Order: sequence, then structure tokens, then C-alpha cells
Amino acid sequence: METIQNFIGGKHQNALSGKTLPNEDPSTGTVYSTVPDSDSEDVALAVEAAELAFPQWSQTPGIERAKIFRRIADILTAKHEELARAESIDNGKPVSLARSVDIPRSIKNFSFFADTISQAASEAYYSDEPRAMHWTTRSPLGVVGTISPWNLPLYVFTWKIAPALITGNTVVAKPSEVTPMTAHLLSFIVKEAGLPPGVLNLVHGTGLSAGAALTAHPKIKAISFTGSTKTGAAIAASTATQFKKLSLEMGGKNPTVVFASVASASATFEKAVTGALRAAFNNQGEICLCGSRIIVEKSIYPKFREALLEKVKALKVGDPLLEDTNQGALVSRAHFEKVSAAIDLARSEGGKILCGGQPATVPGRCAKGYFYQPTLIEGLDPSCRTNQEEIFGPAATLIPFETEEEAIKIANGTAYGLSSSVWTTDISQAHRVATALEAGLVWINCWMVRDLRTPFGGVKQSGVGREGGVEALHFFTEAKSICISY
Ligand code: NAD
Repeated sequence: METIQNFIGGKHQNALSGKTLPNEDPSTGTVYSTVPDSDSEDVALAVEAAELAFPQWSQTPGIERAKIFRRIADILTAKHEELARAESIDNGKPVSLARSVDIPRSIKNFSFFADTISQAASEAYYSDEPRAMHWTTRSPLGVVGTISPWNLPLYVFTWKIAPALITGNTVVAKPSEVTPMTAHLLSFIVKEAGLPPGVLNLVHGTGLSAGAALTAHPKIKAISFTGSTKTGAAIAASTATQFKKLSLEMGGKNPTVVFASVASASATFEKAVTGALRAAFNNQGEICLCGSRIIVEKSIYPKFREALLEKVKALKVGDPLLEDTNQGALVSRAHFEKVSAAIDLARSEGGKILCGGQPATVPGRCAKGYFYQPTLIEGLDPSCRTNQEEIFGPAATLIPFETEEEAIKIANGTAYGLSSSVWTTDISQAHRVATALEAGLVWINCWMVRDLRTPFGGVKQSGVGREGGVEALHFFTEAKSICISY
């Protein structure tokens, strides 16, 4: 049994209470490690270590911080396969996906933010009466907190800590208690790369104990959170009177809107079907950006449904460590039960299950794992609960529409507004619809194509604030305007 520990002031240690939580491999349903069940005492210790490290780290030239980042990226690269396997075991995702998406992106998070330092600039303004020059400085905030989810464990964890650290803050980070392993492995890597003690501290544990203690700590200047809308709301409420900076990246119920023009050529039709498939089922549908409502123009609906159905049925649910598996296990028993209940709800709302709708059995070592068949549902009203609430699993609904206005109305008709993808060959339509969609991200004829310089985040109940590129550097710094008259 492996033992995951907190990482505080450069040292690995158990929770002060000695309490631990079990950590399961969801593909086998067996506990394979323990994780500290930390509380406010551990958080206080970590904040103290971060506070102690802040003066030196914040004064370290950016170029030196960037050198450490590049060493971290190099070690991550050298351990790519080990980390991909660890992520797959901890989360249940196919190892091929962890290898091609999660770990490369985690490496890129460090190399990208290392590069930003050499490009950083500040603004200056000249005014005439009175003659003056104004310029802006940006200083690190101090000790900041990051809280991340289980679906893209190392990917989102590093997406938060990298901009926080490169701008000179010290960090107390809480990974998800459901997938703590790769953050734990990273703690050894940052140490090896020479990150000074206390600059990055990891406190493991549940949201209600370690997470809530972190958000409540008066010395934490900012919280960067990614997770469910319910938790985001709890964090916003609990920090409201402390005036902490908050970045909240939350849930989604994203639309994939397919217009009839894609059927004008077999290549564009095929691309749209494959795009909708990927958007719905990538990572077992456990990505906040997943397109779980597939809204299709009526004239091509039967053809599109058949083509998509064929591809969904061909998805291979299996042992995440096998190379040909493209649908792994759901992350936990609790999540498996949540997804199962959501499909039962879809049935009770009158939804027709076109395929899936049942747990999947994977024989052999994964016989007790939490697998669910990729599920496609039709016949539900856009306003029903199945089409309004995030399922966050391998399930998508098909909804027909007749006009562009109707498509936009359905797409915008939820409380969420994270991302959307639009499939059309009509460039004017693409512009019109992209402008009208209530979402922080719109992809046209693609899905989840990311450039780390672009703002990332949602509107409505999907988020407050933006991450990525300059937005992240601004979030983790405080601007000061200085004026000199001449
Ligand atoms: P979650 O909200 O249950 O947990 C996220 C993190 O918050 C975990 O580390 C958890 O321990 C912590 N937490 C829980 N309660 C807390 C509290 N009261 N105070 C402080 N911390 C607390 O979410 P999850 O189930 O881990 O992840 C799935 C959700 O994350 C989905 O809703 C998904 O859409 C969302 N998500 C959003 C994005 C995005 O960029 N918008 C990205 C990935 C996942």
C-alpha cells in the first residue's frame, strides 16, 4: 500500500492528526494507497511555511524562477510514462489519454509560464495637463491557495500552480482527495528541480476539511478553484467578507450545435460526427468542456443520429491500462452511482436510450471496476432535468432543431455557460452563432483546441474570472499605478 503525504516546507509528512483516507483504483475497485485526511492544523502549518518562503521567492528574479520551471518540465518529460500510468490508475482514464493529453499538458503548463516571464511587460501612459507619466507595476499577492478537481488531476493542478508561482507567489495547493497521486509525485519532482522549501506546499484531504480550512485561512490572499458549481458557490459564500481574490472555474452543460450544411460533403459530415463523439465521450465524458447536449438541425437529424450511434457503439470500454481502450472507468463508486442515477432520471423523464444505459462489465482484473456504457439518449425536452443538469459522465442527449434562432435558444437555455462547439460550413452563420452563444469558449468546427495564451473560463454558473495567459498572470498579481509629474 502506497502512502501519500502532505508536502509542507519542503518535507513530506502525515496529517498532524494521523488520519488518512483510502484512495482507490476505480478500474479495480481496490484501495491502493492512503492519503492524509488533513484539517485546519495542517493548512495552518502549510500557510506558515509558504509565508516564510515568500520574501525570498518573491524577490527571486523571474528568469531564475523560469529556470526552475524548465527543470521541472524536463523531469516531468523524463517521467512521462510513469506519470501517465499513475494518472490512469488513480483516475480510471485510459493510459493512452493520460499519455497524449494529461501529462504533455502538465509539462506545457510549466514551460509555457516559464516563457511568459521573458515576455512580461507593463503599460505606461502619458498625460498632458498636467504633464505626467503613469506606469503600472504588478506584484505577487503573497500566499495563495489552489483547489483542483479529479477529472484532469495533474493537468488542472499545474495549470493553477504554474502562473501562481512564476509571478512570485508562494502556494498552498489542495488536489482532489479522489485523485491525489500525481500531485504527490510532482512534490518530489519540484524538490529535485530545486524549488526552494515552502514555495509550493501540498495539503491533501477532503473539501469540507482541508479545502474549507484553506479558503477560510485569513492569510490566503487568493483562491483559484476548479470544480463543481455547488462547491464554487460555497467558496464564494465563505470568502465573501474576507475580500480574497477568487477565480472560479465550474461546471458545464455544453452544447454541440450541428447545422445541416455539414452534410453537403461527406468529409465535413464525418468531421462533425467525429467531433461530436469526441466532445461527448472523451475521458468518459468527465471533462468540464464536454458537449453533452448534441443539438442537430432537423433535416440531417436521422442521418446524423445513425452515424453517431454507430461510432458510440464502437467505443471500447475496457481496462484503462490497455492500449486499445478508449473508455476507462468512472472515477469512483460515488460518481458511478451519480451517473447511473442520472440515466435512470433520463428514462423516467421519457428519454429513449439509443445505446448504453447500463453499467459495463470488464472481465478479468477490472471485474469490480466502475465502468458505464457510453450512452446516447433522445426524445427529451431541452428544459428537462437531464438536459439542464451536469451529468459529467459518458452520456449525451440528441436534440433536434429547425431554425438557427431555435438552436441558439436551446444552446443558451441552461444555467451554465462554459463552452460550446458549432459545426457549419457557412462562415457567416459561424460568426453569428458564435457571437450569440452564452459561453466563455466557442469552438467552430473543432472541440477542445487550446492555446494557452487565450482566456479560459465560463459565464453564468460556469465561472467567475478567466485563467490562461495574461489573465492568469493578472489574477495572481496586484496592479499598482504610479504617476510622476514632469
Ligand atoms: P468538487 O467541487 O466536488 O471538488 C473540487 C475540489 O474542491 C476538490 O479538491 C474538493 O476536495 C474541493 N472542495 C469540495 N468542497 C469544498 C469546500 N467546501 N471548500 C473548499 N474546497 C472544497 O468537484 P469534482 O467533483 O472534483 O470535479 C468535477 C466538477 O469540476 C464538475 O462539475 C466539472 O464540470 C468541474 N470542472 C470544471 C472545470 C472548468 O475549468 N470549468 C474543469 C474541470 C472540472
